[in-house]
Amino acid sequence: MARDIRPPTNEDLLRFQSKISSCPSSSGCLEWLAGGSTDRPSGSYGIFTIDGKGYYAHRVSYAWQKDNTLKSNEAVRHTCDNPRCCNPDHLIKGTHLDNMRDRSARNRCNPVTGDDHYSRTSPELLNAPKGDNHYSRLDPSKIRKGDKLPKVTKLPDSEIPKLKEDLANGMRGVDASKKYGLSQAQISAIKHGKYRK
Ligand SMILES: [Zn+2]
Repeated sequence: MARDIRPPTNEDLLRFQSKISSCPSSSGCLEWLAGGSTDRPSGSYGIFTIDGKGYYAHRVSYAWQKDNTLKSNEAVRHTCDNPRCCNPDHLIKGTHLDNMRDRSARNRCNPVTGDDHYSRTSPELLNAPKGDNHYSRLDPSKIRKGDKLPKVTKLPDSEIPKLKEDLANGMRGVDASKKYGLSQAQISAIKHGKYRK
């Protein structure tokens, strides 16, 4: 289907027009009445035959009535979202990316899509290092531990042995957290010796 569309003869134009509804629908769409493609579940494009070869009818409409410079690798989009519409006023040239963007923007089920999706607004996040490229793998010395950890300031050093004893005796982190006024993360850090002495 991806072929350049040759200029029409008068006979071509008459034959083409005879396959399109002469009355626009309420949306202004001029619908293709003849055969269409069956490869799209969302609704088929009309197919028009020129010199024995099939072309998408809306592309023919666009090329013959709006822009005869249309190339086979350029997408023609429907502004009306009606695949069978051949109203040249409802057709614009665009890339396949635009096509997908439109589809995303129209998908109300997924509010954050298309141009608002983080992959478009912050494409660098797609390349954020992960796994073996994460800094913790590349340079394990950057992982904060021991004396690089923030100092636990709320608890006097003299209290730490008591806390450790409580923990050793089976006190739960949540209870130690209440008793000593520290976060459970801090309790855990102390329990595992990861605090600055
Ligand atoms: Zn239309």
